[in-house]
Amino acid sequence: MIEFTGVRKSYGELEVLNGIDLAVSEGEVVVLLGPSGSGKSTLLRCVNALEDVSGGKITVNGHDPHHKSTDLNALRSEVGFVFQHFNLYPHMTVAQNIMLAPVKVKKFSREQARSRALELLTRVGIPEKADSLPAQLSGGQQQRVAIARALAMNPAIMLFDEPTSALDPEMIQEVLDVMIDLAGSGMTMVVVTHEMGFARKVADRVVFMDGGRIVESAEPAEFFSNPATERAQGFLRRVT
Ligand code: ADP
Ligand code: MG
Repeated sequence: MIEFTGVRKSYGELEVLNGIDLAVSEGEVVVLLGPSGSGKSTLLRCVNALEDVSGGKITVNGHDPHHKSTDLNALRSEVGFVFQHFNLYPHMTVAQNIMLAPVKVKKFSREQARSRALELLTRVGIPEKADSLPAQLSGGQQQRVAIARALAMNPAIMLFDEPTSALDPEMIQEVLDVMIDLAGSGMTMVVVTHEMGFARKVADRVVFMDGGRIVESAEPAEFFSNPATERAQGFLRRVT
């Protein structure tokens, strides 16, 4: 579903991705770990062409995000992206937020889009919030709406960039539960998170980055009990 070969990215002199080779299969859940500044967000942003690259090749669900003839709207509708900050439109209801892209991009009728929005809100556990404004929801509920909004486009891949990092501690699990359910449904997922419990239980593979490179890639049981490199050992000592 995702293949990176020798991907490089720099901002001026700063090399942020230093030759990334990574393949993610259909249905696989990859958790991306690494210290701040190691390039995790940049890597995710390259997947749906929010960043261009300085070298190497990327294939995402059959598309080359950086080829001139690639339809970026089509690509991005196949790749859902959930950020730390939910970025819901504050003046629209929850249901309207979820309906927006399906109506605009996929030309769904309002009725179709609304019934799909209600289905998705049921799936993330808050169907009763359909006609509330985002400000009337807790942070955890807003993040669940953001996940529902991404799912409304029927993506083949879901990317999560620290989806629980801005939440109060008591709201983290409700968002992780939605992600666990999604992983169980067979979604292909790449998740940047500091939730080591999630990584241990849900990841098929942990990919550890440092300095713009993939330093380790292993099953979670192996990575957490027996990290191969000093850098991963140091990281785990700091975060666990
Ligand atoms: P992470 O998500 O692992 O914390 P990022 O991918 O956000 O790391 O950032 C990797 C490096 O790239 C950092 O040194 C960061 O300062 C730098 N960086 C990220 N975005 C930009 C940008 N738009 N311009 C310049 N430097 C950037
Ligand atoms: Mg980041």
